[in-house]
Amino acid sequence: MRHKKKSIIPLTLFIIFIIGLLVFGGLFIIKKVNAPLIAESLPSHILYADFELPAAPEPDTDLNLNTHIVAIDAGHQAQGNSEHEPIGPGAYETKPKVAGGTSGTSTGIPEYQLTLDISLQLEQELKNRGYTVIMIRNSNEVNISNAERAVIANESGAEIFIRIHANGDNNPSTAGALTMSPSARNQYTSQISSECQRLAECVINAYCSASGFKNRGIITSDTMSGINWCTIPVTILEMGFMTNPEEDIAMQNPDTQMAMVTGIANGIDSYFGMDE
Ligand SMILES: [Zn+2]
Repeated sequence: MRHKKKSIIPLTLFIIFIIGLLVFGGLFIIKKVNAPLIAESLPSHILYADFELPAAPEPDTDLNLNTHIVAIDAGHQAQGNSEHEPIGPGAYETKPKVAGGTSGTSTGIPEYQLTLDISLQLEQELKNRGYTVIMIRNSNEVNISNAERAVIANESGAEIFIRIHANGDNNPSTAGALTMSPSARNQYTSQISSECQRLAECVINAYCSASGFKNRGIITSDTMSGINWCTIPVTILEMGFMTNPEEDIAMQNPDTQMAMVTGIANGIDSYFGMDE
């Protein structure tokens, strides 16, 4: 019995080895034979579709290169809203939802009408330059609070928010334009304060150089609901003093309005580095 067992083991191993060679060799041959068979059986358009070159893209015009999105708020509305709202997310301090605004001492035109006129022209000018424009309002007959305007701008996909206003003062000789920005210490805008400063600077400098209005610079304010609720860089442009008779009349002149609008758009170009 012992002798028989010893002679069976190497024989069994040899048989397994031979079977193994046959099986692996067979698989290898099947693989080689099948590959071209499968390829030949497919319709040619499936095999070669992936290798077709894409059509050459249409050449871009200058307009199409601009992908920036700008939100514009024409300040105020026909009727102010004296209900209160928090001046920032989680704030205890409140302010009226929308103030009534000022009006022209010479022309009698209300601020909400001037801001809408300029905003609609700015919308067209920015579109001409290839921008996508979000208008917070297109009519005077709305009721949108300053915080709501900021939230609409935040959620619109806009990269920056330009708020158009005109100024008023007890002294009729007070004149000139300014922009507003939150300070570096503003607890609501810590993520955007430095970009607001840069935006405010671009807009006031370009606006004054195009319109000829006196440059009163940038004022910082940390109590503006329409700024504190913003999560995108924002500035308020006070275009001039409606309580100054000359500036009030000038701001109704179509040529001056065109220069004002060009200046604001130039400032936006400058912010985005589109003027280089
Ligand atoms: Zn205003």
